[in-house]
Parts: sequence; structure tokens; C-alpha cells
Amino acid sequence: MSLKFFNTLTHRLEEFHPLDPAGKRVGIYTCGPTVYDFAHIGNFRAFTFEDLARRYLACKGYDVVHVMNITDVEDKIIRKVRETREPLQQLTGRYTAAFLDDCRALNLLPPHHVPRATDHIPEMLALIGALMDKGVAYQAPDKSVYFSIAKFARYGQLKKIDADQMRPGERVKLDEYEKESLGDFALWKAWDEADGDIGWDSPWGRGRPGWHIECSAMSMKYLGESFDLHCGGEDLVFPHHEDEIAQSEAATGKQFARVWLHCAYLLVNGQKMSKRSGNFFTLRDLFAKGYTGRELRYTLIAEHYRRQLNFTFEGVDAARASLARIDEFLMKLQDIAKHATPADANAVRPLTTESVIELTQQNALTSRVKTAFEKALDDDLNISSALGALFDFIRDTNKVLSEGVLLSSPRAAMEILDTWRRFDTVLGFGMPQAQEAPADIAALADLRLAARKAKDFKRADQIRDELKAKGWVIEDTPKGPKLKKL
Ligand SMILES: [Zn+2]
Repeated sequence: MSLKFFNTLTHRLEEFHPLDPAGKRVGIYTCGPTVYDFAHIGNFRAFTFEDLARRYLACKGYDVVHVMNITDVEDKIIRKVRETREPLQQLTGRYTAAFLDDCRALNLLPPHHVPRATDHIPEMLALIGALMDKGVAYQAPDKSVYFSIAKFARYGQLKKIDADQMRPGERVKLDEYEKESLGDFALWKAWDEADGDIGWDSPWGRGRPGWHIECSAMSMKYLGESFDLHCGGEDLVFPHHEDEIAQSEAATGKQFARVWLHCAYLLVNGQKMSKRSGNFFTLRDLFAKGYTGRELRYTLIAEHYRRQLNFTFEGVDAARASLARIDEFLMKLQDIAKHATPADANAVRPLTTESVIELTQQNALTSRVKTAFEKALDDDLNISSALGALFDFIRDTNKVLSEGVLLSSPRAAMEILDTWRRFDTVLGFGMPQAQEAPADIAALADLRLAARKAKDFKRADQIRDELKAKGWVIEDTPKGPKLKKL
């Protein structure tokens, strides 16, 4: 089966082939956070979809090299430094650490390289120098260096731009701007008083880099002048990614990133998230409401990345219920697999006719879900369809389990768990960990069992309540009572 992505550059669904002639290595660059505040859930939707893309490529057998930058000098950061008087490095260091903590809570795989912009000023200066040498950049009377969009004929590859909208020669110094102010953009911003003590020396005087040049310099340093995938939220298409393409391709004469993936906005209760509307959430806000990173990962990942995700608390509750269903299923299998003997593991134990029939049925289900999972994700990471296939599989396997024989077939349970572990390398939800009850809790459970045997149900119920108060519930199963952490 072949993997297809919707490429923003060509506006179509395309079969994915790595640039590597051996077809093995895949380079991905994802625009990282601007570290002046805690990242919000809209930001994390993009990071989570990028993690899914990376994990799926690895699952398909590619050697993925993932680079995510940290933007630690930029207009918004400078503004915050000015407002708070906190030194730049202290401020960005604090928010970088918080961001990486949040990524861990969402089980995002750490990128192979996490370059910081302020550690790559020489690379940026070299790139600006190359653009000056080619005559596509110039120093304006305000001493800043600008990219001349009129000198780059292919400007407007991601975002279709009418030539009459372009205002070559008009300059925009801001890192973020609207299409209406489509003019020459800043590569190097000359120092002014508002920058305080933030600045680096350059052949064009003291100043700081523009945001766009940061990503061009860092992506090409770690992935080469041309690489496979560049990802981000759709808010980055213009001007950030458009300008990255212009600078990089004008400097190297080569195609920059071959495939561009952009994820759609996240809405909260159907509205654009904003601090003013009171519907703005960081991950930390949601942890404080009792949600876990795992539940939020599920919520952020479960909708196809090119569809708008409407974040609601009902949605997170539904994610919690879905995960509970998965966990219950896997714990049931773990329980059966626990009784496996070495012969089961090596698959040499003779099987009865009944279990052969049931295993054949189960094998057919397992092979069907493997195909459906891969087919869905091959189709531009259609995760909603992949999850649908997994829940069908859970339903059908539960039916086989309820019919009996599989309950005593540890080998089959182990095989299903192995298949699920492979799915989970992509999903990143984690396998449920059976929690062993501590000795005092186990002793109480034994007392309750003894009370029940003695038909002292009042005492048994008291002990059950006592266990509940300590955070444990007892479930009476055909195999005897089982303790579960609340
Ligand atoms: Zn970027």
C-alpha cells in the first residue's frame, strides 16, 4: 500500500516518495514554538498531528529525522522582554522547558534535533549574505535588510498571490503580517531602542534576525538544502512558509521542502480561541481541570488534521470513555496472556479443534484490522477512519472472547497484544499498566472474601466501602474477585 499526503504546495493528494535515492531516509521539519508564553491547545493540535505523521512514517519503515526549532528571538518575545524586564534567555529558557514538559505529557516523540534560533545566528547571516550576493536582498535606508519579492519569480507557491497584490519596494518589518501588506519582508532587523540589549553584530550593523530566516537556516542546516516534509498549522502558510520558500530557494536555486502539510485551526465550542472570549486554554489549564495528557492527546489526534477540530469538554469526556474502552479490552487480553507458558510464547503447544476454529476466526479479524488501519493512515493520515477500524476490531474480538475458547488461549491473546503494540507505536496512547494492589489492600480483599464465604454480607459490604474509600474497587468475576484502582 502506498502512502499519500495532501501537499499544500501542489494542492493535491500525492503519493509520497522520499528524496533519498535509497528510499529510506525521510527528513521532517516542523516549525516549533515561539517561547514567550505557554503554548495553547491550538498550537498542540499542530504538534500532535506532526507527531502522528512522524510516527506513521517510522511505522512504515522509514528512517525519520525530525527537526523542530525553538524560536527564541522574535517580535512577540522582544515585546514581552520589554514589558516584563526579564532577561531574554531567562524568559525563553523558562517557556522552552515548560513547552518540552507539555510535549512529554502528550507523549510527543522528542525530535532528533531541537535547534534554538539564538544558537544559529552565524547560519542566518551566511544565508542573508548569499541572498545579498545574488542581488535578491538589499539594505534599506532604515538599515534593515529586506528580501525583494520582485526578484523571486516563484513567490506565491503556497498561497496563490495575484501579481497586482504585490507591492515590491514597499517594506514590512513585522514578523507577522497580512496579505494586504504583501511587500519586501525583513531578513535582518536593524537594532532600535525597543530591542534594548538584544542584538548581534552583522555585516549590516547590529540587529536581530527576522522570524522567517530562522527556520530556513535551521531546517537546511540539519536536513540539507532540499528535504522531504515541512509541517505546521495553517496559520503559518502565509507569510511564514511562503517567505521560507522564497529565501531558501533564491539562495540555493534548489527546491526547498518537497511536501508541505498544514493542519486546520482548532475551535473551542465552535468559536475561534481567544483570551478575550474566555475560551483560551493552555494544556496546564486543562490539567488543572483533571484531564490527563493521554486524554488530551486522544482528543487532539482523533480528528483528521485537515478538518477543523472543535474542542469541547464533552469531546474530552468522550476521549476518556474511548480510552477506557481500549484499556478494558487490552487488560482483558493481558489477563489471559498472563497465563501463557513458554510453549505458548514459542507457539508449539498443541491446540484443540475448537480453539483452532476460534483462532482462525480471530486471525482473520486481526489481519483485517491491520489492513484497515494501514489503508486509513496511508490515505493522508485518516486517523478517524483508523480509529473506527480499531473499535470495530475491539467489538468483534470481544464477541469472540465472550464465546469462550479464546479465554483460555494465551497465545492468541499475546498475538493480539503484539498487533496492538504496533498500532500504539503510531497512536502513542500507551498500553494499560495493571496495578498490583499493595499488601494492606489485598489483605482487606481477602477479609471480604472470607466474610462472604461465611455469609456475613454486612461485613463484606463494609469492607468493600472501606476499600472504595482507599481508592480501590472490587469486581467479582468468574475467576474470583479482582481489585481495580479507581
Ligand atoms: Zn518556521
